[in-house]
Amino acid sequence: SPRVVVIGAGIVGCSLADELTARGWTDVTVLDRGPLFAAGGSSSHAPGLVFQTNPSRTLTEFARYTVGKLGGLELDGAPVFRPVGGLEVATTPERWADLARRHGLATSWGIEARLVDPGECARLHPLLDPGAVLGGLHVPSDGLAHAVPAGEAQARRAIERGARFLARHRVTGVAQAHGRVSGVETDQGFVPADVVICAAGFWGPDVGALAGLTVPLQPLAHQYATTAPVPALAGAVQEASAPILRHQDADLYYREHGDRIGIGSYGHRPMPVTAAETEAHENSCLPFTPDDFADAWKQSLALLPGLAETEVSAGINGVFSFTPDGMPLLGEHRDLPGFWVAEAVWVTHSAGVAKALAEWLVEGQPRTDVHECDLHRFTDVQLSPEYVAGRGAQQFVEVYDVVHPLAPPAVLRPLRTSPFYPRQQELGAVFGESGGWERPLWFEANAPLAEGLDLPDRDPWASRWWSPTVAAEALATRRHGALYDLTPLTRIEVTGPGAPDFLQLLTTNDVARPVGRVTYTLLLDAAGGVRSDLTVSRLGEQRFLVGANGPLDLDWFRQHAPDDGSVQLRDTTAGTCGIGLWGPRAREVLQSLTPTDVSHAAFGYFRARELFVGGVPVTALRVSYVGELGWELYTDAATGLRLWDVLWKAGRPHGLVAAGRRAFDSLRLEKGYRAWGIDMSTEHDPVEAGLSFAVRQDKDFVGKEALERRPHDRRLACLVLDDPATTVLGREPVRVDGRPVGHVTSAGFGTTIGRTVAYAWLPASLGDPGTAVTVDWFGKPLAATVAAEPLVDPSGARMRC
Ligand code: FAD
Repeated sequence: SPRVVVIGAGIVGCSLADELTARGWTDVTVLDRGPLFAAGGSSSHAPGLVFQTNPSRTLTEFARYTVGKLGGLELDGAPVFRPVGGLEVATTPERWADLARRHGLATSWGIEARLVDPGECARLHPLLDPGAVLGGLHVPSDGLAHAVPAGEAQARRAIERGARFLARHRVTGVAQAHGRVSGVETDQGFVPADVVICAAGFWGPDVGALAGLTVPLQPLAHQYATTAPVPALAGAVQEASAPILRHQDADLYYREHGDRIGIGSYGHRPMPVTAAETEAHENSCLPFTPDDFADAWKQSLALLPGLAETEVSAGINGVFSFTPDGMPLLGEHRDLPGFWVAEAVWVTHSAGVAKALAEWLVEGQPRTDVHECDLHRFTDVQLSPEYVAGRGAQQFVEVYDVVHPLAPPAVLRPLRTSPFYPRQQELGAVFGESGGWERPLWFEANAPLAEGLDLPDRDPWASRWWSPTVAAEALATRRHGALYDLTPLTRIEVTGPGAPDFLQLLTTNDVARPVGRVTYTLLLDAAGGVRSDLTVSRLGEQRFLVGANGPLDLDWFRQHAPDDGSVQLRDTTAGTCGIGLWGPRAREVLQSLTPTDVSHAAFGYFRARELFVGGVPVTALRVSYVGELGWELYTDAATGLRLWDVLWKAGRPHGLVAAGRRAFDSLRLEKGYRAWGIDMSTEHDPVEAGLSFAVRQDKDFVGKEALERRPHDRRLACLVLDDPATTVLGREPVRVDGRPVGHVTSAGFGTTIGRTVAYAWLPASLGDPGTAVTVDWFGKPLAATVAAEPLVDPSGARMRC
């Protein structure tokens, strides 16, 4: 098996050694600059609370695996995990409502949970004042992980299989040979390796730098204090019996340490540890700053009055990692094959992450969808020190906040703007953010169009980051037409003599068609899972424009590109811009601006041409993600503003408006167009996702064999909520006869049909139209029915005219 070096013997390094050796990769050396196994990193100081429920299905899955694994492990006869349960309490109506939403998330991701009243909260956690809370969310399988023993127990299993753990080995360099990693330099000498995994915790950026890699995480200190003995806990024989407790309204959490209480706080000012400082820190434990803890103590007395009989006796400002989006960093260095990272991982997710990474290394890919954790999910502008520090600190601030799923990030904006930005501002755009790009959600200038629309009421949660103007923009698109800013969508130019064969092998549909054709196609991974969906436009014999989902697609292309120079790849996103001109009047508008014949006969559906529009050179694709006649029009960033202006001027007499992403989503849901990463991922195959039409059996492509062997036992089903006045937003559990059977992926109000459309994963047996289901909304079951799709214009006549 390959020689593997893991840098860091914290919980992640130990778990990786276990998961790799269990899969037959037994030549594993784990190096730590500290002693074993309390090596001095964050794991040495973590109180180890494992709350599994998370908005991210992937993180919940990782946590569930960690609980299952650690729950079965002992070190010298002592368990390393204590399943005391988890209790999150609410002291405000907003939090109480949010706990109902989190109950839904837990149910969606298969974690058993229940909402409990104040009396039950106090029964579960006797220190708690029932008068201080409105209720709680109880997850019986949550619990306490003892991070150091849990690491050691996994290390011992790995050592039995042949792994080595070397204390006091500090990695000082990363060596490479023949374009690959070849080992690490340490203060004790050179250690050769075929694979190096950086699991160095918050020192990750320092170790990454040794390999020329930016590891985008920000180390921040977080306060953890323990009390002197609490009289009410006197005589406690166990280390902990009450559930781990979260009081998120005050940014606090608690656990028992015998007759003492441990208190963690996220309520204090962010305390970033700069890159220059991290190297100097021998461990992750900085001196406690009592002033920063004063409010946490006050809030704790209100929730747990028995603490008045004691005092804070010890505390630390413990350091760990925060990424710009709060997710871990997993994957292989783009420019140094063999150098991997497993960074910014909580104890909670450690075993699940290690399993996924071990699968990735040994089997070629993880079985869990990890796109949210992929090291390469960020674009270059998101890798600046300012961005990483600013967004990392914001993650710290928001860690326990009630965050609306559609709320855009609040800091470090605008970062990237399209050439249309000034016009969008003039039109009163309300902006969201995507991949660092400002993206209009809707335009206040269109508000008058919403007056008089007969829209069902929306509840306050569903009304956030939404406006009746969204519906007006969607209707205006179907009636007349609209301009949509497509700039943030990733565009990749694939050129060279090898380009047709290269794309043909990577994608499921036939893309090597005549020049001028556009093809919707999929990328599958080797296991037949949907890795992405693309439009591939053949602009020349050896020139293709690929509309992709993000930086991960370029990465996939790079990994598979032949190394003989026959294929060139170029991400043209930032240097170009795009407008979706969609709606029944799109042709009249476009024709008035171009000498090229854009009639259906001359410029057919799913065709591409290069033409001039109002004097601007444009690549025009006759495709539409909203289900209307129209074109995607791409040009250089420098000519973008002119393109917007000429289209706007020509379009206004036809009733054309500017429309935002929320209208776009409403329209695409009505047409059944899937969003990769939300509706489907590598865990699903094209048959299950309803995309068989994009798979050609008469050609070879990556993932084909595996696809044939898959059971296709799930369906991405289209649900329509029965009551027009009900709405869901995504990730809610779906039930049949009260029993959870699946979860919603994306959802939105379909303006044309006057109901909410929700896509949901269901067992194949329940995916047929007519099946009655319910969708949980803050604990309330909303009636819905599986519908035949698409809901609008099934024949596609509106687009093919
Ligand atoms: P670490 O444990 O930091 O291990 C990294 C190791 O790399 C270190 O041992 C270090 O010595 C070694 N290393 C670094 N550089 C080098 C080098 N150049 N050469 C050799 N070795 C090197 N998580 C939870 O899930 N639940 C909690 O309740 C929780 N509470 C926390 C409370 C506090 C106060 C803190 C500080 C953290 C908490 N966390 C919690 C977060 C959690 O502790 C960390 O996310 C996790 O322990 C990180 O594990 P790791 O193995 O990646 O890193």
